Amino acid sequence: MRRSPLTLILDYNFMIFQKTLVPFGWICVVFSLLLLLASIFDAEAPVVVIVILFSPLLLIGIYCIWKKEKIIDGAMKRYQKNALRIQSVEQFIINKLDALKRRREAVQEVKLIVAKYCRNCGKDVNAKAEICTNCGVRPLNEKKFCQECGVETNSNQEICIKCGVRLKTFMSNTANGSPANTDFSNLPQYYQDEFRKIFESNETYKGKWNWAAFGFGPIWALTKGVWVAPLIDIVGASATLGVVGVIYWFIFAIRGNYMYYSYIAKNKQLPI
Ligand SMILES: [Zn+2]
Ligand SMILES: [Zn+2]
Repeated sequence: MRRSPLTLILDYNFMIFQKTLVPFGWICVVFSLLLLLASIFDAEAPVVVIVILFSPLLLIGIYCIWKKEKIIDGAMKRYQKNALRIQSVEQFIINKLDALKRRREAVQEVKLIVAKYCRNCGKDVNAKAEICTNCGVRPLNEKKFCQECGVETNSNQEICIKCGVRLKTFMSNTANGSPANTDFSNLPQYYQDEFRKIFESNETYKGKWNWAAFGFGPIWALTKGVWVAPLIDIVGASATLGVVGVIYWFIFAIRGNYMYYSYIAKNKQLPI
């Protein structure tokens, strides 16, 4: 049986105020009798009000005095049952949030994409080097050699035919193929850290949940220079009575940092 929060509050109060239940009953009875006396001795008294108030007050009063035990017992039983249910709901929410947090933490352990061989010149590269010391190009910025075994590849190849790995390419290029802008120094520290992580993970990391973007959605995006997504959000929301708008709260929260990164680093506008 489902019970509303209101009945829960009532039950709780019955338990807390069980000592006052009988006095409350007497007050009701006395007050209803006073009303009755008033109606008898005062001809001007509004009869309807008296009738409407008199009988319910008398009934409530008598019920409180007479059935005191039953009311309190019932309230206690219902309250205990509901309290248990509420606890299990709380536990359920806590568990869910916990799992979500653990998953996000796991995602945030950013894996650096490292190349063993330079995809531009084919020489082996230091795992920690951002740029190949032999040719001066980022190891994943070309498609001439396999990053795992150093064998020659052509630019349309997706898998190395010698060692079988998936060939990796550098994601952070602008639309016309020029290297991304990686100077984030004029941005707040939060975005500097986020963008560096996105860049260094070769965009396998796409930024964490952004509360500002969740709360301010299109306004947040527009102030950052991201305009395609807010446009779709606003047009879509007005066409669907807000449904698309609600979806975009979450899109901005989850994808916001990556949209912003794409604009800053690659001058690219993402729809979602
Ligand atoms: Zn090289
Ligand atoms: Zn290979």
